[in-house]
Amino acid sequence: MTVDEEQCCCSGQCVLAAPDLFDQREEDGIAVVLVAEPTADRYEEARTAARHCPSNAISVHERD
Ligand code: SF4
Repeated sequence: MTVDEEQCCCSGQCVLAAPDLFDQREEDGIAVVLVAEPTADRYEEARTAARHCPSNAISVHERD
């Protein structure tokens, strides 16, 4: 899972949707991925965060 820092507008929606998977940098509010490779049982949480992102900055890479 990745966040495109150029796209991120610091809305914080990902942190609200999935606080265990995302945080925001204190200095500029850009999102930080806490769990780069979430386990399969957390894909839904990751996908929900991605759907809530107004900038479409979150990419979830699910393993087969
Ligand atoms: S929801 Fe998207 S735009 Fe908002 S902080 Fe997270 S990655 Fe950035």
